[in-house]
Amino acid sequence: MIDTNIQKHYIAIIGGSISGSEAAFTLAAKGFKVVVFEMNDLPYGKIEDGLPKWHVGLRDKQEKNIDQKLNHENILYVPNVKIGRDINFEDLVKNWGFTVIIIANGAWKDRDLPINDINKFIGNGLIYQNSLLHWYNHKHEPNYKGSNVEIRDGAVVVGGGLASLDVVKLGMIELVQETLFSKKGILVDLFEFEKNGIATVLESNNTNLQELQIKGLSLVYRRTARDMPLKSPKDDTPENVEKAKLVSEKLLQKYLDKYLFKFIPLSIPIDIIEKDGALKALVLQRVTIENGKIISKPGDTLTIETPMIISSIGSLPEQIKGLQYEGSWLKMEGKGNYKVYGYNNVFAIGNAVTGRGNIQESKVHGKRMTEKIIDKHLVEGDLLEDWLENLNTDLINKVDKNVAAIESFIKTQKVIPDSIIENILIKTKELQEKVGYTTYTDWIKSKTPIRLENLIK
Ligand SMILES: Cc1cc2nc3c(=O)[nH]c(=O)nc-3n(C[C@H](O)[C@H](O)[C@H](O)COP(=O)(O)OP(=O)(O)OC[C@H]3O[C@@H](n4cnc5c(N)ncnc54)[C@H](O)[C@@H]3O)c2cc1C
Repeated sequence: MIDTNIQKHYIAIIGGSISGSEAAFTLAAKGFKVVVFEMNDLPYGKIEDGLPKWHVGLRDKQEKNIDQKLNHENILYVPNVKIGRDINFEDLVKNWGFTVIIIANGAWKDRDLPINDINKFIGNGLIYQNSLLHWYNHKHEPNYKGSNVEIRDGAVVVGGGLASLDVVKLGMIELVQETLFSKKGILVDLFEFEKNGIATVLESNNTNLQELQIKGLSLVYRRTARDMPLKSPKDDTPENVEKAKLVSEKLLQKYLDKYLFKFIPLSIPIDIIEKDGALKALVLQRVTIENGKIISKPGDTLTIETPMIISSIGSLPEQIKGLQYEGSWLKMEGKGNYKVYGYNNVFAIGNAVTGRGNIQESKVHGKRMTEKIIDKHLVEGDLLEDWLENLNTDLINKVDKNVAAIESFIKTQKVIPDSIIENILIKTKELQEKVGYTTYTDWIKSKTPIRLENLIK
């Protein structure tokens, strides 16, 4: 049984999407109070800006699920506030009074394509996955103000995971859709292309890539189709690993047949060729796989002419000042740990720490880790001494000038004092009012953009 006093803890969650909403709901359902800080209007993260917009069913189901979780009386939603930009992390720790802070900020920084000086082509021959998908998912909105992207024929997608299949498919559909319309005046909507495949759509319109003079996109991968992480094996047994490899191979073939892109396996981009400041070709190191290891022979290269590279080699967490990182990843108190290095009351969940790109995994991780935080720390109240140590003196003075009195209060009550809760509520309300937020339902209703499927009905 949970003591109702435990409710007197306020928990901050950074990021409101899959893992953040799961954590918020897990806490709220047990009576804890939560503030969710979200950098965007909507709390849907990769569901809104990552999954390509043809995933209508999956998107609507997951967004509804996030809404059901966040629209809870114990949760205060604060949109348009990016921790690290609008509020310093240190400020959140010292000046607010949250008992616990949970980082659920996902992975929004594209991994740099490892080719010297390549980023000078961004916007002119090079695009990374996150920007591509943001444009793609929102370009149909009447008030879309982002940059425009032109998918160039012969573009090369570098990647290998499920997301890169979505990326190369998106590029092919976009290219063929545009060309079919400009050359033949035939308008086919995205959903038909996605459902039936490019091959079928072209056939039913008595044409093909050759006639339309489309070279198409290529997907470059460093290993073979069997090695693509498209299906996770059930376990590590050789039979199940082999089964997963066969599924990956079959899945890729299905995509190749349906969406007509080319596949270039066993190749690693190492250089580019440019002319007059424009991207002309991508140089690939050819490799072989021996005992699972990638072996490259110097000089064995392949140069493919291309006007555009789309990099889909994964995303990393955006770094938040005040937290420590090991390489690109948040430094934790140990491998597989949920505790963030340097703090006793800061934890991290979801893509931000797992680095795995899957909705279910992010959900499970968010829920499990939050249950651990509740059982091991909040119920025990063992965080409160560190919590007091972290607090700014001004905030302590607000509660009671006598630190010893607060110490004895938190030791006996195992909750945070009312005046701290009041401080959190005042600050939260200010931020909500600044953006015109009133209720969760009204906010979501007013900020959800028009959907493409409704525009083309
Ligand atoms: C192209 C593509 C296709 C995919 N397809 C599938 C699929 O078919 N099936 C599947 O299961 N998964 C798929 N995924 C993966 C899935 O979308 C993610 O694994 C999942 O959404 C991750 O959830 P998360 O909560 O950990 O992170 P995110 O969804 O990234 O959520 C992080 C949240 O934190 C917010 N945030 C970030 N930084 C800050 C900050 N500093 N302050 C405040 N807020 C912040 C973000 O705005 C966001 O709302 C796909 C991903 C991509 C990119």
